[in-house]
Formats: sequence, structure tokens, C-alpha cells
Amino acid sequence: MPQKRDYYEVLGVSRGAEGSECKRAYRKLAMKYHPDRNPNSKEAEEKFKEASEAYSVLSDPEKRQIYDQFGHDGLSARTGGFNTSDFPDIFGDIFGDIFGMRGGGRSGARRGDDLEYELEIDFEDAVFGCSKEIRIPRTESCERCEGSGCEPGTRRVMCGTCGGRGQVYTQQGFFTMSRTCSRCRGTGQMIQQPCTSCRGSGFQHVQRNRRIDIPPGVDTGNRIRIAGEGNAGSKGGPRGALYVLIRVRDHEIFRREEADLHCRVKINVAEAALGAKISVPTLEGEETHSVRPGTQSGSRLLLRGKGVPKLRGRRRGDLYAHVDVDIPKRLNRDQRELFERLDRALKADPQRPDGGFFGKLRDGLR
Ligand SMILES: [Zn+2]
Ligand SMILES: [Zn+2]
Repeated sequence: MPQKRDYYEVLGVSRGAEGSECKRAYRKLAMKYHPDRNPNSKEAEEKFKEASEAYSVLSDPEKRQIYDQFGHDGLSARTGGFNTSDFPDIFGDIFGDIFGMRGGGRSGARRGDDLEYELEIDFEDAVFGCSKEIRIPRTESCERCEGSGCEPGTRRVMCGTCGGRGQVYTQQGFFTMSRTCSRCRGTGQMIQQPCTSCRGSGFQHVQRNRRIDIPPGVDTGNRIRIAGEGNAGSKGGPRGALYVLIRVRDHEIFRREEADLHCRVKINVAEAALGAKISVPTLEGEETHSVRPGTQSGSRLLLRGKGVPKLRGRRRGDLYAHVDVDIPKRLNRDQRELFERLDRALKADPQRPDGGFFGKLRDGLR
């Protein structure tokens, strides 16, 4: 192995040089020997690496002190030597202001994706609220590699194509163009040995059971947000959220309009004419209510507070029972006789409030 050059000599600074002086010197060398500016030059690449290594040590007060005291050997004994994965630490700092890179693509923590789960529930469950267990397919950090993507015992190394920056730069006239490095997909790092469990992705697909509390009063189209139950984030980013999209099944009796309920009740012609006590369905069971004499088809009974609890606020909506007067389609003999008597009686009644078309016609002939 060739003898390593002195770090101060590499940067061309004195032993007492301040941090800012080292940075300026490194910047100059980095610009000059940058691989993008010296394509296919092995020599430039070596010089670039040498300068980067020197700067990474001299810009770190702890490493610099060890180096000053014990030299190269001391450094490798104390810190396990220079590791290429240390590069990204300095790139954000140095190239950030050269190429306008955002504060180092090194951390790159990204929040996990949100998930949407469609949950169909019964009408009553939507009205009164419920608790449901659902099975969510989602991604989590790989257990084997703890999300790093590297086989345990190995680590990431600097991407040789972009020199750890995640971006490759090309000079066109006065302009420096940058694009995301395709080899490392902008991360600046390469996995040396991919985790055998997740093949380097750092994620695993799992199914998780979760109990979801549905508040009273939800309706089709409502979304319930549950933080931290979505897909795993990458590089230590937080989990996404889980959205539970509610779909409420139709009810055979009730129709819902926001917090109000509607249903139909049938009464017969005699009940309509005479008034009656009738049975009205509610969510809590049947209730007895009165219809007044002379109730018409299409009139409605209002049952206050028998609707759906409102999602916001404590009140409940109302229940409207729409009355249908049931005209018999078939009559037995007795019923026919009674209707005929009723018919004669109604026609003979001088008190009839409405004589109808023929009544008016008769009046006109007098
Ligand atoms: Zn790369
Ligand atoms: Zn893994």
C-alpha cells in the first residue's frame, strides 16, 4: 500500500489552518478534480478522493486532533479508518453552495404513504357508532435489516457514479446541469450486500389487524383519519396516515338525509278517516303514535330526536314517518257492501265541504 500523503499537504494548508481555510482549500480542489468535470480521468478521481478524505478528517475537530497527535495510523486505530460512507457528510456542506444542492440528500427522510381503506358498515352501526376490526395491508420497516436494506453486518458505501451527491452534473457552456444519479437513485449511497429478507428495499409487506372506532353519526363518504397507521416512511421518516372511507349499507325501512330519517307507514282508509293509533318503526323499536281523523295520504308524522346523532354536537336529527293511505285493491262481499253504504252516505251528506265537479255542475243548473 503506498504511503498516504499528509492531509495538510493534500489540501495545501498549514497545520494551524482554521476550519474555514480548510473548507476554501477543499472547495477549490473539489471543483478542479470533480469527476463530472474530468470524465474518464483516473488521476483526477484519485485526487478528488484524496482531497475529500483529507477534508473529512480536518473538518472534524475530533478526528483532526487524533490525526495531529498520532497521524494516519492513529486515525485508523481510533476510528476504524477512513470510510467512504463518510463522504456524504461533507458533500451537503461543500456542494450545497457550489451546485445549489438542498442541505445534503444524505438524510432524505420521507414520510410514508397514506393508505385508504374502504369499510362497509350496517346502517345501525353508522347511526350508533361501532368498533370494527380491519386487516390493513401495508409496508413496514424490514425487521431483519431494520429498514437499512443492508444485510446485517454490512453497510452502505458511497455511490461511485455521483461521488455520493445523488446528483450528476454536466457542464454546458456556462451552465451546470444536474440530474438525479440513476445508479443510486439520488441517495448517494449503494448497498454493498442487500438484505436477504427485503432484497435491499428496507421494507416488508405485512397485514396488520387494527380495531377502528367508528363514531356515531357517520355517513357514506366520511373519512376517518388514523395517524401513524399508513405505510412506513423511509430513512426514519414518520409513518403515513390511514384513512378509513365509510360506506353505509342501505336500510330496508329507513332512508337517511344527513341527520334525519324517513320511513313510510301505511294506514287503511277507515283509519285515515276516523283517526287511529298506529305503530311507527324507529331505530329503537316500534312506537305507538296517533293519526288525526281525516289524515291524508302524503301527510307525515314528526318524531323529534328519533333521527341520527349528529357527528358534531349532541343533538339527534328527527324521524319523519310519511303516511300512505292504503286503498284496498280487492274487497270481499262485506267490505263491498260497507263501501257502497259509505258511498251513498257521503253523496247524501249536505255538509260535504267539497261537492266536487258534479256538485258544482248541479249547483250551476239550479
Ligand atoms: Zn449515485
Ligand atoms: Zn431488510
